[in-house]
Amino acid sequence: MSDNLVEFIKERKQKLNAVIMAHYYQRPEIQDLADLVGDSLQLARDAAQAQADVIVFCGVSFMAESAKILNPEKLVVMPEPEAGCPMADMITADKLRKWKASHPEAKVVCYVNSSAEVKAESDICCTSSNAIQVVNSIPREYPILFVPDKNLGNFVALKTGRKIECWPGYCPTHQDVTAQEIQEMRARHPQAPVVVHPECRPEVIKLADEALSTGGILKYVEKSPAREFIIGTEAGLLHQLEKRFPDKVFHIAREEFLCPNMKLTTLENLAYVMDTLEHKVEVPEDIGIKAYHSLERMLNIS
Ligand code: SF4
Repeated sequence: MSDNLVEFIKERKQKLNAVIMAHYYQRPEIQDLADLVGDSLQLARDAAQAQADVIVFCGVSFMAESAKILNPEKLVVMPEPEAGCPMADMITADKLRKWKASHPEAKVVCYVNSSAEVKAESDICCTSSNAIQVVNSIPREYPILFVPDKNLGNFVALKTGRKIECWPGYCPTHQDVTAQEIQEMRARHPQAPVVVHPECRPEVIKLADEALSTGGILKYVEKSPAREFIIGTEAGLLHQLEKRFPDKVFHIAREEFLCPNMKLTTLENLAYVMDTLEHKVEVPEDIGIKAYHSLERMLNIS
């Protein structure tokens, strides 16, 4: 059954001149079928250069929206339109406008895990790969408002020494990891470095050897002489790690380290969307233009 679906998806991809993009948190079978697999930054770059007529985005809605904003003339579809991001939903454009009004001197840095409307209200976007670079690109005289992830914002403030006020948003999947779980994993695997995502709580980041984006974790493992690693991010990344480094061993920092929204994309709904081209991603033109500038500023500096 799944072999038939895979064959069908490949045939449709060719017929439609489509490209399938997938985030590292997608199910293994989706990652294996995708033409491009990456973190938010890599996928944004790839989307900006996409040559295909149709972009099939396997991820959550803010990522597919970014692909559409960067390719307004292309057809962008999502296999599962209900795949949202609870962190992105923790701020709205209206709330951001009010926050900005009380800090008129500040620049707004917006994590890409946000809606098109919020990006449109921001000065520049960032991902977890380039957040430090993005903040450092802003002249020091400007205070910074960071939305929506308080954990990433506080991490960047620590790394850059900049004054950053953070919106109190968070990723429920990464927020669930506790310092105690990290300590227990270290006790069980004392030889394994701990690498976590900066969406984790500050006390978890403090206990880790490194806090890196998903793309950064892959590079870290590639360079490290260690044979075993404790990985503090969504379990989908283990598929790439195990595929690329079959002689190394990876321990997930907590059981059930899963983003339910990322897992909504399946072979079945991917095949369906490629058959019907339903679930088109649309961004109103005025919002798309403003959000494009925030994304473009980011892509120009990293
Ligand atoms: S892992 Fe967290 S930030 Fe990423 S899509 Fe899921 S809920 Fe949103």
